[in-house]
Amino acid sequence: MSMEHEHDDESESGRAGTFGDYGGQYVPEALMPALQELEDAYERYVLENEDGFMDEFRERMRDFGGRPTPLQRADRLSERYDREIYLKREDLLHGGAHKLNNALGQVLLAKYMGKERIIAETGAGQHGTATAMAAAHLDMPCEIYMGRTDVNRQRPNVYRMRMNGADVNPVEAGSGTLKEAINETMRDWATTVERTHYVIGSVVGPHPFPKMVRDFQAVIGDETRTQIREQAGRLPDSVVACAGGGSNTMGTFHAFVPDDEVALHAVEAGGSSLEIDEDAGLAPNSATLSTGTDGVLHGAMTKLLQGTDGQIVESHSVSAGLDYAGVGPELSHLVETGRVVPATVDDEAALDGFHRLSRLEGIIPALESSHALGYLERAAGPAGETAGGQRPRDEDLGDLVVVNVSGRGDKDLETVLEETETRDLEAAPDVEVFDG
Ligand SMILES: *Cc1c(COP(=O)(O)O)cnc(C)c1O
Repeated sequence: MSMEHEHDDESESGRAGTFGDYGGQYVPEALMPALQELEDAYERYVLENEDGFMDEFRERMRDFGGRPTPLQRADRLSERYDREIYLKREDLLHGGAHKLNNALGQVLLAKYMGKERIIAETGAGQHGTATAMAAAHLDMPCEIYMGRTDVNRQRPNVYRMRMNGADVNPVEAGSGTLKEAINETMRDWATTVERTHYVIGSVVGPHPFPKMVRDFQAVIGDETRTQIREQAGRLPDSVVACAGGGSNTMGTFHAFVPDDEVALHAVEAGGSSLEIDEDAGLAPNSATLSTGTDGVLHGAMTKLLQGTDGQIVESHSVSAGLDYAGVGPELSHLVETGRVVPATVDDEAALDGFHRLSRLEGIIPALESSHALGYLERAAGPAGETAGGQRPRDEDLGDLVVVNVSGRGDKDLETVLEETETRDLEAAPDVEVFDG
């Protein structure tokens, strides 16, 4: 890894590609020309709409993706929490999650840049699936790197990617999970940059990825802002979204960042505990914003789960999509400056949120999104019944709350069944029906 490369053109924080102390381009020299080329293309096509790029992107997101997604008043949640609760329904986007906003944006950008080939990494398979779908839609060859362990435990997603015409390359190194898959994708990109675009799956990685991915996802908050004004007559008091890498989070928050009266709550996976086991190199959580420390991961300075020696520890969450030891640099900055409130919800409270939304509203949320719903219960639920113990900050949520439902939970049913059998969850149905 080489030094950070600085530019002095304008950005939010004075230097391009940084957010306060976070962000930058901590990458091998070989990748710098690719990042420069991508930054130029991002500025021309995304920021300046050259050749009508953004018009085509919006049209495809409407016709292929199903945008705009609804903002729905949740009647029974509103009753339970004694305030107005609105849900942004990204679970209704094509593919069942917000990930397509970014995947389609980047694959289309690669086309405009004259690239001939798409590569991406995936952990649980959600980003790989969205990328493969976007590549099929736009007729681009696509290769997905995935750790061997993940390939073996995510067979349906591997098959989905292959159905969409993508080649899935298992990565045998190390623990065979996301970290190794990212390294392998970087290696591929470094040797094939002229004809290849690397679709990063969240607001992470070196500049310009965190900004570009945020801008593709910002449609979530842009729509929400218009919709809540139409439907409730004003801006919300608070907006709640789960955070893994933070792309649904930044996508939902971005339009509201200048509105100081709107509180922004980023809910991370508290896993089974917030303590790091230094000796084992394990964090039984993915609570990067709440408990992490500054360091460099995947090309950017950001908050990380790391041991005292700076080695990255393995993270955990019941939800595969939140299970990441880093987080986007812009979110790190917004937490550091106090604009975004970080919170954690443990596995059990998330499972409770999963069942509660299904039961009360007839919407089965992704386990990732269930963390945002678990937070709602903890912050505003009936006293004495709260999952996860504490009940802080009730007043912070206010009377009008928007929760982003980043995805749907059909993909999580097997996990939820296993996890629910061993726990006593208030909102879950009886699973004994299987024992007869
Ligand atoms: C991948 C995923 C997430 C986490 O990714 P972010 O970049 O933090 O948004 C959240 N929700 C769903 C449904 C996902 O698939």
